[in-house]
Amino acid sequence: MSLRPERKRAAPVVTEEMVARWRADFPILATEVRGRPLVYLDSAASAQKPRAVIAAMVTAMERHYANVHRGIHWLSERATEAYEGARARVARFINAPAAEEVVFTRNSTEALNLVAHSFTALMAPGEAVVISEMEHHSNLVPWQMQRDARGIELRIARVNETGEIDLDDLEAKLADGKVKLVAITHMSNVLGTCTPAARIAALAHAAGAAVLFDGSQAIVHRPVDVQAIGADFYAFTGHKLYGPSGIGVLWARREWLERMPPFLGGGEMIATVSFERATWAPPPYKFEAGTPPIVEAVGLAAAIDYLEGIGYEAILAHEAALVDHALRRLSAIPGLTLWGRAQERGGVVSFTLEGVHPHDLSTLLDRAGIAVRAGNHCAEPLMQKLGVPGTTRASFGLYTTHEEIETLAEALERVREFFA
Ligand SMILES: *Cc1c(COP(=O)(O)O)cnc(C)c1O
Repeated sequence: MSLRPERKRAAPVVTEEMVARWRADFPILATEVRGRPLVYLDSAASAQKPRAVIAAMVTAMERHYANVHRGIHWLSERATEAYEGARARVARFINAPAAEEVVFTRNSTEALNLVAHSFTALMAPGEAVVISEMEHHSNLVPWQMQRDARGIELRIARVNETGEIDLDDLEAKLADGKVKLVAITHMSNVLGTCTPAARIAALAHAAGAAVLFDGSQAIVHRPVDVQAIGADFYAFTGHKLYGPSGIGVLWARREWLERMPPFLGGGEMIATVSFERATWAPPPYKFEAGTPPIVEAVGLAAAIDYLEGIGYEAILAHEAALVDHALRRLSAIPGLTLWGRAQERGGVVSFTLEGVHPHDLSTLLDRAGIAVRAGNHCAEPLMQKLGVPGTTRASFGLYTTHEEIETLAEALERVREFFA
C-alpha cells in the first residue's frame, strides 16, 4: 500500500463549448427562476439529472418492470437482469473485486447506519470507533446511537486550521489498539477538503482497525478505486452523482459482509425461516431486506455510464478551474470569509459575509435566481468549531459555468454594498 499522497494528473482543457454540450444533457437547466436563468449552485445537496438517466428509468418502468428475484416469469427475469446489471456496473465503477460486495441501500445515510449497527455488533464494550470533526451528521449520529446502546467509545479526530484531518492526532487516537474502525469522510461537504484516503487506511490498518469512507461527495468529483485506497467499506449516494434519489451504495469487503449480522430483517434477506428462527441469505442479499430500489438502480447505472462517458479527467479539470475562479473572485470581496483552505479539494466553496446571516444571504441570492445552500450543512459540530452559526455554500457540478460564478460574485457584491 502506497503512503504517497494521491498524484495530480495533467489536466485536459475543457472549453466553453464542451460545457455547453454537457449542459444541454440536463433538461432542468433551461428553467427560469422569476424570469432569470436558473443558476444552480447547490449540486452538493443534490445534483441535477441528465436525460440519459431519466430515459433509462422511464424505459425500465415502461418495458421491463416487475419485482426482482422472486418472480419466475419473463418480466421479473428482465427486471432482475437490469437490477443485477446495475450492481455489476457499480462494482466496475469503484473497482470492487466482486459485484456481491455491492449492497444497495436507500442512500448514504442508510449505508452508514448499516455499518454502524452491524459492525459494532462485532465489537466488545470499551472498544472504540474514530470519526473526524468534519463528518456529516450521517457519519456521526449513527455512531453516537451505537455508543450509547453498546457501551463502545467514540473518538473524534481533530481537523486543523486549513480544514484538513490532523493525521498526527488520528495516529495518537489509534495508539492504544482499542480502535476497531476508522470512519471518515473522503470529502467534506462543507469545506471541500478531500482527505488522503490511502494514508488514513494505512494508519488504520497498522493499528489493527478497519476503515470506512463516506464517499458521498468525493465520488462525484474524482475516480474512486476501493482496492487502491485500501478501504474496507465505502458508502455513497445516487442523487449527488447525477443519479436518482432513493438509492445508495455500500461497498464492503466480503469478509465483513459475511461476519456482520443483518441490519434490517424481512423478505429477500433470508435463506430459511421458521416460527422460531431464520437463517440469512448470502451477501449482498443478507443486507437488502424488502423490495429494493429497482428503477433507481437502473438510473444509477445510467448515471455512471454518463459520468464515465464524459470522463473524470475532464470533470476534475473543469471543477478545479471553477474552484480557482470562485476562490480568486470571492476572496476579493471585502467582508467575505472563505472557510477551508485544503490543498486537495472538490467543487464546494463555503463562505460568510460580515453582518449578513447565511440564511438572509441565501434568500437575497435566490432573488437573483441563484440557488445556494445555507446553514450548518448537516455538520453542526463543525460549525461550532469554526465559531459560526452557519455558512453559505456554493457547490459546482460538471454543468457549472464560469459565467455563473461571475453572477454569484456580482450578486454578493451588491448584497455587500447594500449592507455596508
Ligand atoms: C449528502 C451527504 C451525506 C448523506 O447523503 P444522503 O443521500 O442524504 O443519505 C453523507 N455524507 C456526506 C459527506 C454528504 O455530503
